[in-house]
Amino acid sequence: MLTDTFGRHHNYLRISLTEQCNLRCTYCMPAEGVALTPKSHLMTAQEIYTIAQKFVDAGVTKIRLTGGEPLIRKDAQEILEKLATLDVELAISTNAVITDRYIELFKKIGMQNINVSLDTLIPERFKTITRRNYFQRVYDNIFQLVSEGFNIKLNCVLMKEINEDEIIDFIQLSKDHAIHVRFIEFMPFDGNNWDRSKLVSFQEIMTYVERAFSKEDILRINDRPNDTSKNYQIKNYKGSFAVISTVTNPFCDSCNRIRLTANGKIKNCLFSSDETDLLSALRDNEPIEPLIAKALKAKFKMRGGMDTPEKFQDPSQYEKNRSMITIGG
Ligand code: SAM
Ligand code: SF4
Repeated sequence: MLTDTFGRHHNYLRISLTEQCNLRCTYCMPAEGVALTPKSHLMTAQEIYTIAQKFVDAGVTKIRLTGGEPLIRKDAQEILEKLATLDVELAISTNAVITDRYIELFKKIGMQNINVSLDTLIPERFKTITRRNYFQRVYDNIFQLVSEGFNIKLNCVLMKEINEDEIIDFIQLSKDHAIHVRFIEFMPFDGNNWDRSKLVSFQEIMTYVERAFSKEDILRINDRPNDTSKNYQIKNYKGSFAVISTVTNPFCDSCNRIRLTANGKIKNCLFSSDETDLLSALRDNEPIEPLIAKALKAKFKMRGGMDTPEKFQDPSQYEKNRSMITIGG
């Protein structure tokens, strides 16, 4: 049921808990906001659990919660506790604005792996990028998570003339802390004013790194199966860094991800505009397994069918997709 026509087995489910967020990152949320799905059309905690259980029964071994900001959901605790009873590795992507309230819960349910978004180390810039003034809170919460022993990956979306001058400062965070910094190429979605000229490519990132460190000190470390990133470490640093090059060097061949939006639709690819409505079927007491299988069989080989740079950069293609805030990354 979870294998597509290219033989890729999908054992990693990403569930978006909400379309809302306490930040407004320019690359993720359109300035005018997004039309929100009415609450009655969003999955309840029980519906999330029921659907997740079916995926786990079919072979999913990892679930990541995302959003919007997953932790702003009032029933986030209930959802996390329910999902933690499944035989699956549970992880979360968060902006860390309110993670301090959840430390005990994360520990109680044994959730170790936390991805945090942080695009700048400069408070004023944080305000410009996220349209909110929460830098210090986020920064303190990240180091609280680190000191509490969680595995932290820092996701940093790089944009020309916005934050590319901070690449080395981010890598320096990995000197004394076991933080894994991941530089993400800026990707096009509906309403995020994407432009190829704003992209900082894998090659450009590595040029910055090679200018700052000697060749012998830049260690290429092993990528794990299904990794979406190329991983590196600076010699003798505690942490590491990576580049996610979805635009210039996609990793579709080893894709094992399937996405469930907060309103209960499957997206078989981050870039696919086709969606399959599981929630309506579930509410009508119809089996959802055949729908999941059909959605997987319809998956394109590469980036939702945008298999050339020309197609990928064509607004008429990516504007058919949702805004990132309603997908979840
Ligand atoms: N609010 C949580 C957070 O920020 O981590 C979870 C949701 S957020 C949509 C998930 C990830 O998508 C974040 O790491 C964010 O940086 C990334 N993201 C959002 N828009 C993006 C874009 N246009 N290009 C690349 N990454 C993007
Ligand atoms: Fe919110 Fe995360 Fe999107 Fe930023 S990247 S607006 S924190 S969902």
